[in-house]
Amino acid sequence: MDIINLLSEQISNQIAAGEVIQRPSSVVKELLENAVDAGATEIKVHIKDAGRTSIIIQDNGSGMSKKDASLCFTRHATSKIHKVEDLFQLKTKGFRGEALASIASIAHVTLKTRLEKQDDTGTLIEMNGGTPTRNEECICEKGTSIEVKNIFFNVPARRSFLKSDNAEFTSIRNEFERVSLAHNETKFILTHNGNDIYNVSAGNLRKRITDIFGLKSNEKLVPIEEKTDIVTLSGFVGKPENAKKSRGEQYFFVNQRFFKHTYFHHAVSKAFEQLIPEKSHPSYFIFLEINTEKIDVNIHPTKTEINFEESKFIYTILLSSIKQALGKYNIAPSIDFDIDTSFDVPLSHKNEIPVEPEIKVDPSYNPFSTFESKKGTGTSSNKALNNQGFGKKSDAKEWEDFYAIREEKNTSQHALIEEKEEYRGNKYLIRGRYILSNVKSGILIIDTYRAQQRILYDNMMTSFVSAPLASQKLMFPLEMELNQNEIDAWNESKSLLKQFGFQFELENNGIRLESLPSCISEQTSHSCIDDVSRTLTNTEQPDKGELAHEIVSNLVHVVSKDFQIKSEHEIETFVNQLFSSPDHSFCPFGKPIMKTLTIEELTTKF
Ligand code: ADP
Ligand code: MG
Repeated sequence: MDIINLLSEQISNQIAAGEVIQRPSSVVKELLENAVDAGATEIKVHIKDAGRTSIIIQDNGSGMSKKDASLCFTRHATSKIHKVEDLFQLKTKGFRGEALASIASIAHVTLKTRLEKQDDTGTLIEMNGGTPTRNEECICEKGTSIEVKNIFFNVPARRSFLKSDNAEFTSIRNEFERVSLAHNETKFILTHNGNDIYNVSAGNLRKRITDIFGLKSNEKLVPIEEKTDIVTLSGFVGKPENAKKSRGEQYFFVNQRFFKHTYFHHAVSKAFEQLIPEKSHPSYFIFLEINTEKIDVNIHPTKTEINFEESKFIYTILLSSIKQALGKYNIAPSIDFDIDTSFDVPLSHKNEIPVEPEIKVDPSYNPFSTFESKKGTGTSSNKALNNQGFGKKSDAKEWEDFYAIREEKNTSQHALIEEKEEYRGNKYLIRGRYILSNVKSGILIIDTYRAQQRILYDNMMTSFVSAPLASQKLMFPLEMELNQNEIDAWNESKSLLKQFGFQFELENNGIRLESLPSCISEQTSHSCIDDVSRTLTNTEQPDKGELAHEIVSNLVHVVSKDFQIKSEHEIETFVNQLFSSPDHSFCPFGKPIMKTLTIEELTTKF
């Protein structure tokens, strides 16, 4: 009996919608991008009930002909590419022709559109869960207006996954801010339930940033500018004195498209190093213009990561031009820019090309089922992204690849780590921090501070899965004032946080903490809670595994500060504990735990 049949267009659109449209803000993003692609100079967004009830986006762009209007809801219907080569010269935001088909399949959609040169009448099309229900002439303005009502009305599981109105609207506002920052030449309006949220007129970038983030931003911005053959940089960084505890306004755009990039973020942070207090974050609005052939166009519609061919070069340019800008505005002490663009690599690697730091990508990770494979790294190398597209699970091999440079030089060290017997000799504790041991090829040096972080991390990650971590009840509950976004985030991760020892009640304008993980002291509790809060709100769609990694990393960071090996007797147990971890070579923050000083190196010293 034959059992295979072809899915109807309606079903396959719904399946595709699962990827493209995850929440109301995905609709807003797609429709805003279409309006921008249509060359609109004015775009209005009206939202009802955080997008659950209705999303209207109206533009004065090119509009569509009657035929195009009928076609635009068909999957893979696009006016933006015609042949494969077009993919490498993309100037538009969209090109897949998936968004409208996906949106129409999971909502009630009304489209009104009119070409500029048409008479007074345009076209009205109504789609109901993927089925056309109206197609007629109508009176409408030049341009396009799309209303999306009752999102996920026919996918109740999705609808029930929507978060609080506050959280959903914050996500919409984020998308709106990103597109409107990228297009300061366009006027944008955003309303929610009839209230004006933004009304920003066309102007230069400084004005746009000021309009979006408040008047005072104006005095706080330092311009950056750099033109090279590969990339043109422009935009602003916030002055160091305005760096924030929470990671708020950090924006990268490439060819007017918002993206996230851990490696480039590192370059910006590095430029600010020693100018801002530890754990505070500079704001930045950085625009890259780059030949479209030099970036990976095959961007997943819901991902904001982008791969760059020349990322190392861009890193250097970013670092030096921000330092230069800060220096020029007399913010940083004057720096010798020619020599000061070195990377923060250990001394012995100063002359090597640094490898990109990794981006955290492991959405399939679930600490409750695949714990073993994730334990330790918490991250995967960027290579995983390049090789396999986004979201594929990383493995230990990639993590090793990330350290390829170091591995090459340290093969002898690894051989030693495998042969445990070899370094059972004498061990010396130096200044309470470093353990020195005589090994086959020379001297093995273990940084106990980092080793302790690895041990703690592994212990916590293993034990929280089976039982909550030890928690201490506070004699006086700790009241923390939080914004609605943060309250929602704490609430949504309540059960996970409980596993880590955080017990709390929600209040109107914050939370009341009743218990804390017993590993944190009262003095450190505030900064720890701050960190957790930031972790919870920074991740757009927090994955449990990633959250667990972040929370444990925070705890480890705080707890390990007080660590010291007190006596030589403890060394043996400590070393054994360390080597029982499969990831004993690196601390949870990716730094090496041990180094070998080889006999050859020793000899050269005399
Ligand atoms: P894509 O943007 O990837 O091409 P979409 O499904 O978002 O796919 O849109 C399909 C097509 O519909 C677009 O290629 C464009 O020709 C047309 N279209 C969509 N929105 C608008 C709009 N606001 N104004 C004019 N044309 C539009
Ligand atoms: Mg589109």
